[in-house]
Amino acid sequence: MLSALVFAATLSAEEARWNAPVAPFRIADNLYYVGTADLAAYLVVDPEGMILLDGGLPQSAPLILDSIRQLGFDPKRVRFLINSQAHYDHAGGLAELKRATRARLLASAPDAELLERGGSGDFAFGDTLTYPPVKVDSLTKDGARLTLGRIRMTAHVTPGHTRGCTSWTLQVRVDERMRNALFICGASAPGYRLRDNPAYPWIMDDFRRSFAKWRSLDCEVFLGAHASYFGMTEKRARMAPGRPNPFLDKEGCAAFLDKSEARIEAQHARESPAPR
Ligand SMILES: [Zn+2]
Repeated sequence: MLSALVFAATLSAEEARWNAPVAPFRIADNLYYVGTADLAAYLVVDPEGMILLDGGLPQSAPLILDSIRQLGFDPKRVRFLINSQAHYDHAGGLAELKRATRARLLASAPDAELLERGGSGDFAFGDTLTYPPVKVDSLTKDGARLTLGRIRMTAHVTPGHTRGCTSWTLQVRVDERMRNALFICGASAPGYRLRDNPAYPWIMDDFRRSFAKWRSLDCEVFLGAHASYFGMTEKRARMAPGRPNPFLDKEGCAAFLDKSEARIEAQHARESPAPR
């Protein structure tokens, strides 16, 4: 585990803020937040077993396991591990979580390769943001259903941020009605080259298709890979019995997509064409 130890020694101030522990809580029905201050992780619970979405940093794994236990659940009941994007801040803890839960890890083909390389050879980050590699047990395709007991989830491959970035939808009862929850995998391009990128020539096509896909999904319960995407802390503080669940936020979801897409398009427009 040398890589994890080296990683631990190099947590930046920003990463340490992302990874600050927060108490787990029920978002609605059988859906719980078990992530850290900014690195989301979600637990979906059924008598047949549980599904865990995302693993944070390598240093997040023990916090996520603690959060599951604090809610009164046994991590060994996690049957499936799924991942939004194969970057170190969402996939870094998966190897440890897989060891602790013995769950099966599902991922899209392009992100499965990155997970099994521990993030090395990333088209944008190269070998700079690596994490403990983790073996993927089966591949998910766009539109694939994941069911466990009464849990109904669907994978939506929405590439751009990673080549296999995977958003998920879940049917969940909120305020007495079945709603569609959307977990957005990542809609940013931090430091990426978007124009004529030889490592990912069709990245802008992918991003544009992904924004169209996200808009086509009914984002009633707005969630995502970073808590900051959907204002987790502020919404959590607003939760109160008898009041509408603040995570029901179609407008916030649409605004997030508009803002994120405008940022990507502006970044693309600023780049000069590559010299030929
Ligand atoms: Zn990322």
